[in-house]
Amino acid sequence: MIKAPANILRLLPLPRKTLKWLRNLIVPRPQIILDKCIKCMRCKNGCPIDPPAIDPLKPGEDKLNHVTCIRCYCCHEFCPVKAIDLKKSRLDKWFHAQEIVRAFHRLLGRLALLVANKR
Ligand code: SF4
Ligand code: SF4
Repeated sequence: MIKAPANILRLLPLPRKTLKWLRNLIVPRPQIILDKCIKCMRCKNGCPIDPPAIDPLKPGEDKLNHVTCIRCYCCHEFCPVKAIDLKKSRLDKWFHAQEIVRAFHRLLGRLALLVANKR
């Protein structure tokens, strides 16, 4: 699976809602594998968002705040038992075409560079 450069999206001069829609469409999101989780809370404590966007003790299956999570994947890196999976983006699921996504990421990278150079 591709770890998309979520930060690049934020550099694009697009309305906030469009950026969120794009992010959800192309960027994988972290998901706790409940059977593996030992509730050490490293993911929550290491999340750069305040309040943290992930909480292993949150009731229900989904432990992620989809709105505030910036897809930095720190939680995925911090987990000592590899209990955080990166769930495929909708685009990945729809097309199973990682090459398309990679090409799109390259295009986004170029656009972001263009925008950055114009500032
Ligand atoms: S991906 Fe980043 S922002 Fe999202 S829950 Fe994990 S650490 Fe927090
Ligand atoms: S870091 Fe991993 S094991 Fe620890 S609470 Fe988070 S998901 Fe569970």
